[in-house]
Amino acid sequence: MIRTSVLNILNNSLNLIYPSRCPICQGNSDNFETSPICKLCWSEITQIKEHCCSICSKPLPAVYMEICADCIKLMPYYSKAISYTTFEGTIREAIHLFKYSSLTRFADAIAKLMSDLPLPEADIMIPVPVTKKRLKERGFNQSLLLARKLGSKYKIPVHFNLLAKIKETGQQALLKGSERRLALKGAFITTEKINGQIIILVDDVMTTGTTINECAKTLIAGGASKVFAVVAANTRKI
Ligand SMILES: [Zn+2]
Ligand SMILES: [Zn+2]
Repeated sequence: MIRTSVLNILNNSLNLIYPSRCPICQGNSDNFETSPICKLCWSEITQIKEHCCSICSKPLPAVYMEICADCIKLMPYYSKAISYTTFEGTIREAIHLFKYSSLTRFADAIAKLMSDLPLPEADIMIPVPVTKKRLKERGFNQSLLLARKLGSKYKIPVHFNLLAKIKETGQQALLKGSERRLALKGAFITTEKINGQIIILVDDVMTTGTTINECAKTLIAGGASKVFAVVAANTRKI
């Protein structure tokens, strides 16, 4: 965490000295909280209002559908995954800056969006973990930063050691469904017995949902009674 705060201070100071251009509209970045993304571009992130799958929250093609074809084909282990917005435009850029340029101040701004979501009652919150190797490379787990903000807002304790990722799985989006499931098999473990608690998993993006589902499967096998997930953005149906 020391490294994260040092990076944060450094990033913030650099931005004050050299105000950057908004990467979306090329205008001046006029909002410190979401810098370099400007206020106007940030305001374009809107909550999903479309008719969505009642399990995975991906937009559905028809209003008479309740559950998407993927969830019917392979019922997820989680009860419901809630997403604030779809992974495109400004949020896509913001998450990229957050994760790969270490602009950890985005944790605040993104968690603020997510805290408008109606979360179910739960006993604990768990960030989707990364491997120790990834943590060392990046210096922080973006899901943990989001979970900390959300946990304090919703008054749900965050347990970041209960679920661990022990296998590097690479870029899931590049793999097909069955390959993805195979790559993630045995990637997560629970580190202690769970006594029937209801858990909310927190992540930044849900693409295929395979990672969140594998986490949910591991938590249920470890003793969780129910698992929900909350993410900042999900991708549309591929
Ligand atoms: Zn802009
Ligand atoms: Zn679905």
